[in-house]
Amino acid sequence: MPIYDYNCKACGHAFETLVRSDTVPACPQCASTELEKCVSPLAPAGKIEAIRMAHRRVAAAQGHFDHYSPSDKAKLLQGKKNI
Ligand SMILES: [Zn+2]
Repeated sequence: MPIYDYNCKACGHAFETLVRSDTVPACPQCASTELEKCVSPLAPAGKIEAIRMAHRRVAAAQGHFDHYSPSDKAKLLQGKKNI
């Protein structure tokens, strides 16, 4: 179940809630369902880096090295050897 951030259009209350596909979330403050779904806040920097490197490993496994710097290529190739 994903967690989404919402802004209540009726009272301006901001909250996050678990959303099931078959339910409509309501504002916990005024019970309005006139909500604006917010774009997820930025993930912590470390998490972004982890995601970026995971994508790079996938690309490396598929042989797409073209857009990597030489140092990154070396790192990826080294990592591959250790596996
Ligand atoms: Zn509200």
